[in-house]
Amino acid sequence: MRANRSLVDPKAEQPGPLSEPLPGEIFFSKLTKVTREKLARINVHCAWDLALHLPLRYDDETRCFAIREAPQGEEVVVEAVVLSCEIQYRPRRQLVCQVQDESGVMSCRFFNFYPSQLKVWATGARIRLFGEVRSVYAGLEMLHPRYKVVTPEATLPTSLTPVYPTTAGLGQQSLRQLIVRAMAALDRDDSVPETIRAQYRLPEFCKALDFLHNPPAHASRDALQERTHPAWCRMKFDELLAQQLSMRTHQLRRLAVKAPALMPGQSIKAAFLKALPFRLTTAQQKVVAQIQKDLSQPYPMQRLLQGDVGSGKTVVAVLAALQCVENGFQVALMAPTEILAEQHYRKLEAWLKPLAIGVAWISGSTKKKDKQQALEGIANGQIMLVVGTHALFEQAVVFQQLGLAIIDEQHRFGVRQRLALRLKGTESLQRAEGQSLQPHQLMMSATPIPRTLAMSFYADLDVSVIDEIPPGRTPVSTKLVTDQRRDQVIDLVRQACAQGRQVYWVCPLVEELEGAGHDEGDVSTPLAPIASVRQKTQVGRKGPDMSALQAALDTHEKLSQVLPGCCVGLAHGRLKSEEKSAVMKAFLAGEVQLLVATTVIEVGVDVPNASLMVIENAERMGLSQLHQLRGRVGRGAAKSACILLYHTPLSIMARERLKIIFENSDGFEIARHDLRLRGPGELLGARQSGVPMLRFADLTLDVEWLERARDSAQTLLAQYPMAAVKHRQRWLAGRGEFLKV
Ligand code: ADP
Ligand code: MG
Repeated sequence: MRANRSLVDPKAEQPGPLSEPLPGEIFFSKLTKVTREKLARINVHCAWDLALHLPLRYDDETRCFAIREAPQGEEVVVEAVVLSCEIQYRPRRQLVCQVQDESGVMSCRFFNFYPSQLKVWATGARIRLFGEVRSVYAGLEMLHPRYKVVTPEATLPTSLTPVYPTTAGLGQQSLRQLIVRAMAALDRDDSVPETIRAQYRLPEFCKALDFLHNPPAHASRDALQERTHPAWCRMKFDELLAQQLSMRTHQLRRLAVKAPALMPGQSIKAAFLKALPFRLTTAQQKVVAQIQKDLSQPYPMQRLLQGDVGSGKTVVAVLAALQCVENGFQVALMAPTEILAEQHYRKLEAWLKPLAIGVAWISGSTKKKDKQQALEGIANGQIMLVVGTHALFEQAVVFQQLGLAIIDEQHRFGVRQRLALRLKGTESLQRAEGQSLQPHQLMMSATPIPRTLAMSFYADLDVSVIDEIPPGRTPVSTKLVTDQRRDQVIDLVRQACAQGRQVYWVCPLVEELEGAGHDEGDVSTPLAPIASVRQKTQVGRKGPDMSALQAALDTHEKLSQVLPGCCVGLAHGRLKSEEKSAVMKAFLAGEVQLLVATTVIEVGVDVPNASLMVIENAERMGLSQLHQLRGRVGRGAAKSACILLYHTPLSIMARERLKIIFENSDGFEIARHDLRLRGPGELLGARQSGVPMLRFADLTLDVEWLERARDSAQTLLAQYPMAAVKHRQRWLAGRGEFLKV
């Protein structure tokens, strides 16, 4: 029983205050403060961290080479007798020593040295040197070798020499000794049961660890350095297993939380689907079924709905909302920009009004009177569906009983913002139902997270994928054009407008945000505290975004001049809400043909008649941002194009990004490239947040191990709960949990 409880009770996993400290803890606590501070700098906070501080590479000091036979380009051991040693002053101050072995003579040079070194390098002394023998004009030499005075009978080490990542003031030798002592103090039991080890042919944990810290002379240095050796595989597997266990445990904790069970009714859903001008794709039906099942459970759904730009996530969200409303609970739909929130509101109102469902919207700039009215409706339950920006979790908003929170473009919100909305729901349910209930949560994202990443960092979420684009779309053709050919591009815009089509012209960002994708209107910073988000918005009003705005204003003016027959609109984050809303409405209605905009239109905007998009300074934008922007066209039947204007010279990274976006149209493929170029930390915005990332496993290479770890985590939790606890403690002690949403 106790073992089971420990899966859901965080306290049960920590050794209580009365339990004896383990030998590893005692060892670590006895280190001096100075040493512990140095270790903290290399992210080592306990004995297990020391044991898991693994070498970057290995030196081979097990063999001795004759000077003349030493291989080029490799560091080797040479033993020789000192012939002479002197300080030279030209071309600069240096210590130059001549040494000799049976094969020949070589010089050793040091630019930094102590006077005492002259004594060590006394003529006739026998010295063991480690370094690269290079052939130079004057003969053979070694620069700054490591050295040690030896007797002729002194033996060579029998294992490869590990080289660890370290910090100033903590030498390799001392670090090595600390690791040896830590290893001796730690318990050597294997936390992975024999059956799982046998299944994947994994070596025993402590043997693998010993091996990596102290590999025998015959071990393959290539397999060690490339981390393909079975001992390394064991580390990767264990690390991924710890991560999976941590995620699974959170998932299990979620099952212990209650939520209102929202049973699917058929009537409203059928009426809604009947009125819809299209049929759901198979992919949409599949995810709708998954969500429907989740909502009917008495614990909170926590689902991430991924689907490429334009795959039709909104309808899926509405169907989830209807199921909730049918059960008498409210729904909140949160979007990152005002433009998007309003667009959702208009769409939903049109769809739901005929079904007699009250819809309202709230944004930071909703007029006081309208807002008051909406707030009242939300509090008394007349309004069942509320759409809004992050204004939704403002204090004044009080739900009667919120059953479902939907977060659109979830990657644009921080963890705290999503939690704030959930908390609102929990409070309302406590009031209405008199018990502790959590609302269900549906998160939607068009920035696909590659499967490996989702599996490892979002393992406590269930993921649904819409892997199909509705029929009747034509693929967007992408063109790369230097900005010297701007006039030709303007001609294309003129032609498109003359044919009754519509065009977006996106103006440059000023800062290199690399896909961070903020827009100046409704700033949301992933993982930033809510208060600082507010402040940022304030600062932003006069801040660097002003020049982005200026660029948009200038472009708007110029394009209006050169395209006299075309109605040119302007959208940016500094417009008042009514102005923004008016220009978007006019664009949707086709009254505005050319819309000059900043990246406020990056996410969500849906105007099917728009078939041409021009993006200026595309070289500065991140991959996901370009993909999102391009997704604004190609939504109707007309042939669509996206022109990426770039400014030369291009950096290597910029060239690579443009090539990827030119060659790929599948958002998942683009995200995989993004992962390769930027790494998981940047992609998830986690690097700055101090969340521990994987140290040994590489999510682009070790997919197979990730899958094995996921399966094993389930086995461990179900059959070996104590081993699971031990494993997590080993790997996560002192490091906190892995990233979770
Ligand atoms: P996204 O997944 O990017 O949020 P939207 O929900 O905005 O996509 O949908 C894009 C467009 O596709 C909308 O105009 C929507 O009405 C339309 N749409 C959604 N599902 C279908 C479908 N099954 N068949 C045809 N059009 C659809
Ligand atoms: Mg959308």
